Amino acid sequence: MPEPRNVIILGGGPAGFTAGLYTGRASLSPLLFTGAQLGGQLATTSEIENYPGLGEGVTGPELVGLMQQQAQRFGCEVKFAEVTKVDFQQHPFKVREGGEEHAAKAIIVCTGSTPRMLGLESEARFYGRGVSTCATCDGFFYRGKTIAVVGGGDSAMEEAVFLTRFAAKVYLIHRRDRFRASEIMQKRTLANEKIEAVYDSVVAEVLGDEKVTGVRVKNVKTDGLSELALDGLFLAIGHTPNTELFKGQLDMDSEGYLLTDNRQHTNIPGVFAGGDVQDHVFRQAVTAAGTGCAAAIETERFLADLEGRAYPGR
Ligand code: NDP
Repeated sequence: MPEPRNVIILGGGPAGFTAGLYTGRASLSPLLFTGAQLGGQLATTSEIENYPGLGEGVTGPELVGLMQQQAQRFGCEVKFAEVTKVDFQQHPFKVREGGEEHAAKAIIVCTGSTPRMLGLESEARFYGRGVSTCATCDGFFYRGKTIAVVGGGDSAMEEAVFLTRFAAKVYLIHRRDRFRASEIMQKRTLANEKIEAVYDSVVAEVLGDEKVTGVRVKNVKTDGLSELALDGLFLAIGHTPNTELFKGQLDMDSEGYLLTDNRQHTNIPGVFAGGDVQDHVFRQAVTAAGTGCAAAIETERFLADLEGRAYPGR
């Protein structure tokens, strides 16, 4: 059994790297596993203009790189690897990556969530070039343009309405003849003159050259195909939290999001969580960084208690 580390962080997005920065600066020598996608969803975001202090805007991968370097500068060890098994039933906790087992006195889970995709080859090809899963991040770039949102839940309604601040026209493409969203959200959405609902329809193909120029839409009742000319396509068909690894060990809600208290504690003392893996509401880089920071500070406190050291404040 290896000597336990103070803390292992799972996930290399804004929450994970912020946790790495704070626990690094607290001299806890954290080890961070990035997972399969360095940067998480941030890595697939083109320009970022809503991260405080970065007024000129940076790309998602640039911001991830800056966060990673900053965490490493303060002693966070970064491994570009995916953890395949965890055991939180005994302390120190165990984490397996490839054939290697690691142990830690505390864990910070920042494994994020994955936006659901339609599963089309063309959608993957245009991801970041007109296909987006984040209206808050990318809506600004569609001033005066024509776009479509796919989905029929509250997120789709919220995003469609939000996007009318910029876009001249927003199609709302839904696979059924009625929306799943709450009545109030539906009313607000359908009352908006810029929004046109396209019911009983699925996107069969995303069209474009360098960037998206439209979609081919299939009516599921008639099988009829038609084309919509578009500048952008926003997918709002839900997110899946990356929590498969923690099933049976960490408490989750019915959607699989980790349950944390207001100090980022999970149900297991010493296991903390931050970022989108425990937040289906805000899902912003800045809120993820904030909860990653809170999880790190609570980790410091937990380790101080464990070792009978005094910890300032609270
Ligand atoms: P939901 O799961 O509620 O809705 C997903 C929507 O996407 C559904 O309309 C679904 O269609 C559609 N969909 C799913 N998969 C596909 C697919 N492969 N192709 C086409 N369409 C698809 O997710 P949301 O993100 O909208 O909401 C998640 C939770 O967050 C909900 O509880 C919601 O109420 C909440 N929320 C609340 C908000 C608020 O109150 N302000 C804002 C945003 C979210 P179908 O209906 O046919 O299943």
